[in-house]
Amino acid sequence: MQLKIAYPDKYKTWVNEGVIKTSGKGSSFIDKIVAINKWSAKLETEKVNTPVDRSAWGISPQTINGYYDHLTNDIVIPAAMLQAPFYDENQSYAKNLGGIGAVIGHEITHAFDDNGSKYDEKGNLRQWWSDSDHNEFNKLSNKFIEYYGNFEAIPGHKVDGELTLGENIADLGGISVVSSILSDDVNALKEMYTNYAYSFASIVSDDEIKDQIQHDEHSPNNVRINAALSSSEGFYKAFDVKEGDKMYVVPEKRIALY
Ligand SMILES: [Zn+2]
Repeated sequence: MQLKIAYPDKYKTWVNEGVIKTSGKGSSFIDKIVAINKWSAKLETEKVNTPVDRSAWGISPQTINGYYDHLTNDIVIPAAMLQAPFYDENQSYAKNLGGIGAVIGHEITHAFDDNGSKYDEKGNLRQWWSDSDHNEFNKLSNKFIEYYGNFEAIPGHKVDGELTLGENIADLGGISVVSSILSDDVNALKEMYTNYAYSFASIVSDDEIKDQIQHDEHSPNNVRINAALSSSEGFYKAFDVKEGDKMYVVPEKRIALY
């Protein structure tokens, strides 16, 4: 797997390529957008019949996001993602694990989710797992579909466990890895889970959530936190969660990738 962190080694910029005029030289905002779109389309069409550039990035360094690409088998963590709450050199190791650590674990796990697992290390569509591993994986996936499908993002509106399967597997992968790094350190686990939740904090209208449930491959953020943590053993240790507590899930119903 190739790791692409912060910014690409080579990149083109609109200003250097003469695509847009710098401010003060006469072009309007609309002119700039049209010029950038034309230039981007030209770059895409020029790729036809040329070898794949495996060093290319799909998003800019200024994007607050990350991704895994199963066709190039790489994870991309742009520079903009390397700031609080995800990462800060002055925040604790545990907080960084709950932020960027869980994100990196999430992206790596995508290589092994219901979609990524169908592609080999070169990005070719090839079943490289044994039949029995594949069957076991499908059984675990069904548990994920059922588990997440029971979570309500807002009252009366449950998550679509099938639509969100790959992202839910990636979330569980990320949180499992960072939880295991901190092992039995209860205070560090508390900090890590708190920053994990904080990094997803957002204000979203009910209408937006209803729309998300139908179209977005990610579970709504409140479910991404609550469902993942309710299946993490470390979370029960860190906050002494007991039967009767809101986030308690009976052990037989909890999910794991193993
Ligand atoms: Zn993802």
